[in-house]
Amino acid sequence: MASARGRQAAATPVLRSTITCPHCGHAKTETMPTDACLWFYACEACDARLTPKPGDCCVFCSYGDVPCPPMQQHGRDGDDAGQPAA
Ligand SMILES: [Zn+2]
Repeated sequence: MASARGRQAAATPVLRSTITCPHCGHAKTETMPTDACLWFYACEACDARLTPKPGDCCVFCSYGDVPCPPMQQHGRDGDDAGQPAA
């Protein structure tokens, strides 16, 4: 019983997120920066410029299948009160 190592890898954030364009449905997997939020994303298929939805910090949180790294690590700020359901 000497292996206290190993399981420690504290939540390594997923750095790849597939953004789905709300306009044309085109999906593209992008690599997310770990230290910045991406506010603009241009769909390569229809050229629409995507911006975060209200309350989201970046386009990955709004349109990606994986939220941005800071959000993965810290989660939302807990004030979910008043979130429109749906
Ligand atoms: Zn598009």
